[in-house]
Amino acid sequence: MSDCIFCRIGAGEIPGTFLYRDDEVFAIRDIHPVAPSHILIITKAHIPTLNDAGSALVGRMVGVAQELARQESVAEKGYRLVVNVGPEAGQEVLHLHLHLIGGRPLGRMA
Ligand code: 5GP
Ligand code: ZN
Repeated sequence: MSDCIFCRIGAGEIPGTFLYRDDEVFAIRDIHPVAPSHILIITKAHIPTLNDAGSALVGRMVGVAQELARQESVAEKGYRLVVNVGPEAGQEVLHLHLHLIGGRPLGRMA
């Protein structure tokens, strides 16, 4: 059994509500949302950071984010996609994921 939380959720070892799922990517709501819509688009494979991912897979993750933004009714109002990469960005979970954040004015980036 993996000790990676996102591997365990993806494998169904920990129950989660999937907003999207295919053979490469799945999406769940963040457990500590920073906005009304805060969704994580996560790779099924254990890929530690964006530095380790190919562009086709990253493109697929962004495509899923576009679709979920429409579903969440934030596509036109606006939303933010964030990938934290490594320690200085504060990446907490070393398994590639894309944050989709929206549903309130987000202010300027740090
Ligand atoms: P990071 O800082 O690595 O970019 O973001 C990790 C995110 O995963 C955080 O926003 C955190 O709230 C979220 N998270 C951590 N553990 C869990 C979990 O078990 N379930 C869900 N749904 N989100 C989690
Ligand atoms: Zn993992």
